[in-house]
Amino acid sequence: SKRARLDRFISAKTGINKKHVRVLLAKGQVLVDGEVARDIDLIVDEFSHVSLDGKVLQANTPSYVMLHKPVGVVSATIDDKHKTVIDLLDREDKHSLHIVGRLDLNTSGLLLLTNDGRWSKRLMSPQHKVDKVYRVTLKNPIDESYIAAFAEGMYFAFEDITTQAAKLEIVDDHTALVTLVEGRYHQIKRMFGRFRNPVIGLHRLSVGAIELGAQLAVGESRDLSLSEIQNV
Ligand code: URA
Repeated sequence: SKRARLDRFISAKTGINKKHVRVLLAKGQVLVDGEVARDIDLIVDEFSHVSLDGKVLQANTPSYVMLHKPVGVVSATIDDKHKTVIDLLDREDKHSLHIVGRLDLNTSGLLLLTNDGRWSKRLMSPQHKVDKVYRVTLKNPIDESYIAAFAEGMYFAFEDITTQAAKLEIVDDHTALVTLVEGRYHQIKRMFGRFRNPVIGLHRLSVGAIELGAQLAVGESRDLSLSEIQNV
């Protein structure tokens, strides 16, 4: 996508010199995706909604989409080997959308996409702690000892982080529901890896109050409702 620094973007759109653009930014006259932007270093692209003193310089009609992601489709906007989640969408603005919280290639379930950068940023911020619920199918039987280990957190030396408290509920011998508030690289697979128990199926059921539900067939997508957008 066409990315530019905010001061350059405004200067190019309006002909106002960059020095004066800085003054306008400092005065709080520029909104990006609905928020006052004062930082000249902010990067905007062709999907950012930008206004100056109430006049729209670049419009962006926000879209909020859920997709029932199939296994084998990549959570990316471009890929030369696999079909992407964008390929599955049938809507004019699909190339404006970005993914809010990727799923691995072999993970299925609820995937959110939007072109509202403010919404996705808030949803993904560590402070926001949105619950992500996954149904996990394991190769080997699980037992109660997993619950405490998930709740305690696990240290990952590679990133030098300890995972936040995660909830594990046992559904049956080989199935668990896991609730995460974060999304580290291959997190669930790595957490079960501590028990040498390979994940053979991983499916995301919900993100915050947004549930995949039973209506949406694999590979299908729909717009989020207003309450889903607002209450996530
Ligand atoms: N944890 C994983 O290991 N993979 C995912 O896709 C999501 C969470």
